[in-house]
Amino acid sequence: MLQRRELAAFRKQLLGWFRQYRRDLPWRRTNDPYRIWLSEIMLQQTRVAAVIPYYERFLERFPNVHALATAPQEEVLRLWSGLGYYSRVFPRTEKEALALPGIGSYTAAAILSIAYGAKHAVLDGNVARVLARIYAVRGDLRDATRWQSLQKSADALLAPKSSSDWNQAMMELGATLCTPQSPQCLLCPVTQFCQARKLGLADSLPARRKKRATENIVLATAILLDPRGRTLLLPPPTLSKNKSAHEQVSLLVSKLWHFPTVAVKTDPAAELRTHLNKILPASMTKEWLQLEPVPTARHAVTYRVITLRTFRVSVAQLPRVAGAKIIPLIDVASPAAHAISNLTRKAARAALESAAATGPAALAARA
Ligand code: SF4
Repeated sequence: MLQRRELAAFRKQLLGWFRQYRRDLPWRRTNDPYRIWLSEIMLQQTRVAAVIPYYERFLERFPNVHALATAPQEEVLRLWSGLGYYSRVFPRTEKEALALPGIGSYTAAAILSIAYGAKHAVLDGNVARVLARIYAVRGDLRDATRWQSLQKSADALLAPKSSSDWNQAMMELGATLCTPQSPQCLLCPVTQFCQARKLGLADSLPARRKKRATENIVLATAILLDPRGRTLLLPPPTLSKNKSAHEQVSLLVSKLWHFPTVAVKTDPAAELRTHLNKILPASMTKEWLQLEPVPTARHAVTYRVITLRTFRVSVAQLPRVAGAKIIPLIDVASPAAHAISNLTRKAARAALESAAATGPAALAARA
């Protein structure tokens, strides 16, 4: 830890550097919580350069939280499926912020400090790297104990009267000078405080993370198809008590509209049939349903590889299921028509292509 005088010098130098050299980003021209929140959620998903046009387009359509809250959910999801929460303004306390979907400690600290000046220090991968070098921290930074101690270091460094600029300065340092490869120590405003620099370890800290083992997940999905080429889509899932199965299905559907789907262990067709028995109305004679396999789709999400076993199920009439909608299968396969994940779209395409080969009524919908 830095002594009092060193701490004051560290804060002064970093803040001075940030105020002089900070990049002019659209979300830095405001302290409107809605805009800060929007930018932080978008930045979780992609790089700064990719976020800028996306952010500007989104704000053109939804300039404030009122416009967003009153827009149809379908439209919001179509423009941006990552935005899960938009019914009221961003809360002012960490506890309430953390209760929102998609908001973890980092995002809560970033929004609360930038929008309201709250005294919360951010800690994400960039900031952790800077801290690991300043204090010459060895070992895997994502180790829970080490991460907690980095959070304590971040809290101790935070300039309490300038938490917004401070957090942005730490992130800016990590993004522009203290980069993963070849940090530019000669330009760094806090180089004299940096232990890694003193020890000649700036390039080798932090330690590389061990690669996480691949997890294979098998899902089975049913594309019900009526003689007019229409199918049944279920609404975005709500939280279920069966968290693990829920998480797996969420991976497939990304909280969007989806076909009836279940995570399977051994026998995709049998387990899917059991699932259909549970979710389809009792009036439907399910024992006669034919599950015709269509080509398997694969999809990788970080360390998970999902194998999607898709079955086409021809029915004389689609059942009525609460909250579900009935739309042409060809619309599910089209790129922008609905709030649908890529994997659901892949399954729809596979079903259409196999239908084209066998020539059933699904293709009638194309005409
Ligand atoms: S001196 Fe180099 S390694 Fe240390 S914080 Fe600055 S840029 Fe990072």
